[in-house]
Amino acid sequence: MNTGKKYQFWFCTGSQDLYGDECLANVAAHSKEMVAFLNASGILPHEVVWKPTLITNELIRQTFNEANNDPNCAGVITWMHTFSPAKSWILGLQEFRKPLLHFHTQYNQEIPYDSIDMDFMNENQAAHGDREYGHIFSRLHKDRKVVMGYWKDEKVLRRIADWMITAIGVIESSHVRVCRVADNMRNVAVTEGDKVEAQIKFGWEVDAWPINSVIPYVEAVSKGDVDALVEEYYSKYKILLEGRDEKEFREHVAVQAAQEIGFEKFLSEHDYHAVVTHFGDLGALQQLPGLAMQRLMEKGYGFGAEGDWKTAALLRVMKLMTAGIKNAKGTSFMEDYTYNLVPGKEGILQAHMLEVCPTIADGDISIKCQPLSMGDREDPARLVFTSKEGHGIACSLIDLGNRFRLIINEVNCHKTEKPMPKLPVATNFWTPEPSLEVGAEAWIYAGGAHHTAFSYDLTAEQMVDWADAMGIESVVINNDTTIRGLIQEMRWNSVYYR
Ligand code: MN
Repeated sequence: MNTGKKYQFWFCTGSQDLYGDECLANVAAHSKEMVAFLNASGILPHEVVWKPTLITNELIRQTFNEANNDPNCAGVITWMHTFSPAKSWILGLQEFRKPLLHFHTQYNQEIPYDSIDMDFMNENQAAHGDREYGHIFSRLHKDRKVVMGYWKDEKVLRRIADWMITAIGVIESSHVRVCRVADNMRNVAVTEGDKVEAQIKFGWEVDAWPINSVIPYVEAVSKGDVDALVEEYYSKYKILLEGRDEKEFREHVAVQAAQEIGFEKFLSEHDYHAVVTHFGDLGALQQLPGLAMQRLMEKGYGFGAEGDWKTAALLRVMKLMTAGIKNAKGTSFMEDYTYNLVPGKEGILQAHMLEVCPTIADGDISIKCQPLSMGDREDPARLVFTSKEGHGIACSLIDLGNRFRLIINEVNCHKTEKPMPKLPVATNFWTPEPSLEVGAEAWIYAGGAHHTAFSYDLTAEQMVDWADAMGIESVVINNDTTIRGLIQEMRWNSVYYR
């Protein structure tokens, strides 16, 4: 997925004029050297741009407002090389609206035992200046990320890279627009939510459209375009007829090809980046969009089934966050289906009726055409595969009536013990941390949905930081979770997030 955007992060160094021009010249030289190193490291997903040293209220305020107004600037990295009186930062920070990293580092790695004198101490005092600076954030209750460590340490650079990805999620969230071509599935609670509050908190625009406003786009797709896309499918995926007539099978696949092209044209023309469908509200569509939605997710669209706009928007945000990651393993809509409770082999079989994103696939992807077993339409064509192994996170955003809660479960994906030849859907199989029993109990206490936005490429820390930036509650279920601890945490949160 290529967003075509070029993000930059500004590097702003704090100091003061108490120690003279020579000291300030060194500060500038050191921070320029750091920026050059960060950019040359190959570890950061986005460019860092050096900015002149900040020493006065006026310049700090001006710089932060320029960062606000620069569309390419996705955040600011700050570091106090020397002492920088933090009253000078109050107005600038109050007016700043983008993600901020407080990089607590130091130019020299080792104390220069033989030569250290007071001049050196005064010039290299991040241990001192960064505490003064950090204080004012705490006093202002202002969100920021603190990363401590030596600036050449790869571990430290990786943490900065992770924060940059979160910052993209924060910056892009307010541009997400969701197209609902159906309302929430009747009587289902957890996929509901307050769309006005979602726009206030996340910036998401969530609009309803009658399905019949999309159908002309599907019907208008030319036979030539459909045939060309079907040929692409046939060259890219294995065709599993499973006893069906080849010609009839191809006709079913062609229905999905027209849906892929028609939906994408509608979404693109109306500037939507996420879409929800509903098997019970299909208007004149011949099939529930299956393969079509799988392909749109692969292209970077957010998706939620049965009207689930919260998961669709969250998935879009996570797709944008992972767009710049090299060798990303995949990010998908997902649903909890069936447990394996055999001791030592515990896990949850993940799938959906149809709509799982092929970015998470491992190995062959096949097209099958099978009955849906609900609704009243033709058997839909869908992509079927199993998923990669490895660590990931499953995220559910719920509306508790007075606040949103983001629930993040760290999970470990494996292959199922045996193939499932009769199951006509794409699957994943994971064991939640800390164990199936505690993970599932914790998820249920937290009120998490059966739908999730899942990614191999993001961490719980990144999603917690994103939730903090949005001003919403988050809870993490991982190897540190105890049921007692989680319940207590949620009770305290209920007071904090009033
Ligand atoms: Mn579902």
